[in-house]
Amino acid sequence: MKSLWNEAEAAALAGDLEQRVYSSRLLGGVPELVLHGGGNTSVKITQPNLYGEDETLLYVKGSGHDLATIDADGFAPLRLAPVLRLAELEALSDEEMANQLRVNLTRADAPDPSVEAILHALIPHKFVDHTHSDAILAVTNTPGGVDHIREIYGDSVVIVPYAMPGFELARTCAQILPGAMTDQTRGVVLMQHGLFTFGDTARESYGRMIDLVTLAEDYLASQKAWTISLPDMPMPAAELRNEIAALRKAMSDTAGRPMILQLHSDPLSLFFAGHDDVERLSQSGPATSDHIIRTKQFPMLGRDVEAFAAAYREYFAAHEGRARTPLTMLDPAPRVILEAAWGMISAGPTVKAARIAGDIYQQTMTTILRADALESWQALSSEHVFDMEYWDLQQAKLRREGQPPVMAGEIGLVTGAASGIGKACVDSLLARGAAVIGLDINPDIETMYADNDAFLGITCDVTDEEHIKAALEAGVRQFGGLDILVLNAGIFPKSSPIADIPTGIWQKTLDINLTANLVLMREAHPLLKLAPRRGKVGIVGSKNVPAPGPGAVAYSATKAALNQLARVAALEWGADGIRINSVHPNMVFDTALWTPEILAARAKHYGISIEEYKTNNVLRTAVTSHHVAEMIAEMCGPLFECTTASQVAIDGGNERVI
Ligand code: ZN
Repeated sequence: MKSLWNEAEAAALAGDLEQRVYSSRLLGGVPELVLHGGGNTSVKITQPNLYGEDETLLYVKGSGHDLATIDADGFAPLRLAPVLRLAELEALSDEEMANQLRVNLTRADAPDPSVEAILHALIPHKFVDHTHSDAILAVTNTPGGVDHIREIYGDSVVIVPYAMPGFELARTCAQILPGAMTDQTRGVVLMQHGLFTFGDTARESYGRMIDLVTLAEDYLASQKAWTISLPDMPMPAAELRNEIAALRKAMSDTAGRPMILQLHSDPLSLFFAGHDDVERLSQSGPATSDHIIRTKQFPMLGRDVEAFAAAYREYFAAHEGRARTPLTMLDPAPRVILEAAWGMISAGPTVKAARIAGDIYQQTMTTILRADALESWQALSSEHVFDMEYWDLQQAKLRREGQPPVMAGEIGLVTGAASGIGKACVDSLLARGAAVIGLDINPDIETMYADNDAFLGITCDVTDEEHIKAALEAGVRQFGGLDILVLNAGIFPKSSPIADIPTGIWQKTLDINLTANLVLMREAHPLLKLAPRRGKVGIVGSKNVPAPGPGAVAYSATKAALNQLARVAALEWGADGIRINSVHPNMVFDTALWTPEILAARAKHYGISIEEYKTNNVLRTAVTSHHVAEMIAEMCGPLFECTTASQVAIDGGNERVI
C-alpha cells in the first residue's frame, strides 16, 4: 500500500486538528482501507477551557461522517478524563454510553461521537487511526488468523479477539491493552474487524497504518494469496431486462417497498458468482461487522427471494432472544444477490444504498478469495452478526437517513431529457427520490448529471428501435426496472400550411412525435407491468390537441394521435394497474421548441407583440417547464393513484380550450 502523505501539503496545515483532518482524508480515500463511512480517527489536544484551565479533549470522528470528506467540524470534542473512566465500568448499556458521550462533549452542536470513542480514549497516543483494511481482514478471517498475524508482525502488534464494537470492545481492550502494549507496539489488530495504529504525530500514525497494511499484503503475496487471477468469463445474455425487473418485483414485494437493483457483470463478480464453491465462500458472513447493515449476513444465491426471506425469518427468530428489548424484524429481502450467469446484483431502497452494498461486496469478494487462498475463509458467527445487525447504535445510522422521499426506490425514464420540459421532468422526479434514466439525441445528456448516481443519461435516437431497446436494457441493468415513463421528446416543425407541407417534414414529425412513443410504450410495457407500485406513464401532449392552430398540422395531428394512443393504452393497460395521464401545455417558452424565429412567427400570426404573446392567456401568466414537470411528476405519484386517461391543461387558461 502506497503512502499518500505529502509533506509539503501537510506542513502547510497549522494545528493538530488540521493534521487530523488531512490524514483522515488520506485514509478515507482508499477503498482498500475503509468504505462508506467505515473506520474512525481521533486526536487528543490539550487546550485551555472556559476557566483558563488546561483540559485534554479527544477529538473523535463524528458518527455518520465519512473519513474521505470529513472536516474539522466532523470531529466531536470529548472531555478525555470522564470518557476514560467509562472504560472502568463493568457494564454500560448502549443508551447510557451514547448519553455519556453526548454529555461529555464541549460543543452542543457537535456530531454524535463514534461508538469507538472509548477505545480511542484508552490508547495513550496523541493520534489514533482505525481502518477495516481488506488485507488485514483476509488474514484475520481464517481459522489460523492469530498465527498468521503473529507470523506477520511478531510482537509489534497487540491482538484483540473479536468483541462487539462499542462498549464491549472498549472493555475488552481496557483489560488487554495496558498489560500488552509496550514501546515497541505499533498497532492493535482486532480479529475479524480491523486495525488500529497510533503515534505522536498524524504522520507517524498514518505511516504505521500504511506499513502494517503493506506487511499484510506482502504476506498474502508470499503465500500466493494476493493476486486473484480471473479467467475469461462468458458475458451475461444480451437481453436480461425483463428477468431483472421480475427479480426486482419479487425483491420489492418482500421488502415492502420499491427496491433499486444494480447489476455488476465485471470479471470478478462473474467469477465469484459462478465459483464451484460459491455456497461455502459466500454463505458465512461479512468481512467486518460494520458491513452487515448494508449487505445483510450473506448474499442470496440464485433468484428464489421467498426462500431467502424464509431463511432470514428463521435467523431472526433464532436470535431475537439475545436482545434485552423487543426487536422489530428488518425487511427480509437480500441486499446482495449472486446469480451465476449474471454476476453480482446489489440492492437497496435507494440508489445510494444499492451502490454502497455493491461497493462493499466487491471488496468482500476479493477478501474472501484471498482468505481462502491463504487458508480458508471464516467469517463471524451468526450470533455476532445478529448482534451487530440489530444493534441499536447501528440501526441509528440507518434512521439518520430519515423518511424516504415519495418516489424513493422508483425508476423513471424521460425522453428528450437534455432540455426544456424533459430536463425539468428529470429534476422533478429526482427531487422526489426517483432514479432517472434520461434519453436524448444530444450526447450532452451523458454528462449532464455526472455527479448524481441516481441519474443515467443515454444518447438515444428515439426513432431507432434498437436504440430504444438498448437504452431500456442499460437502464434496467443500472437500476433494476422501470416504474415511470415520461414521453416528452417531440419536435415542432417550421410552420407550414397543409397546401405546402413537404411529405418529409410530415413523416419526420410522425416518426418522432408519435411512432417513437408507440415503440417505447410497447417495449416498456413488460417492465411497467412489473413495477412494484404499479406502472405510470406521463405524456406531454399539447394545447393543440383540443385547440389546434393553422400552419401547425404536423405538430397538431401527431400530438392528437399521441393523445389517442394514450387513451387506448389506458384501456388496454388498466388491468395491469398501469395508469396513463397527459398534460396539455401551451406557451412554455423556456423550451428548445420555442426558437426566437418560431416565437416571432406565432406572434406575427396573431398580430401581437412577442411580449403580449408570451402572457397571452386568461391568467396573464408565464407557464414554465417547471410547472409542467411538477404536474407530470404528481400524476406519476400517489395523488393520481385513482386516475387514468386524464388530460390536464397547463396553459394559463386558453379561451379556445375553455
Ligand atoms: Zn471498526
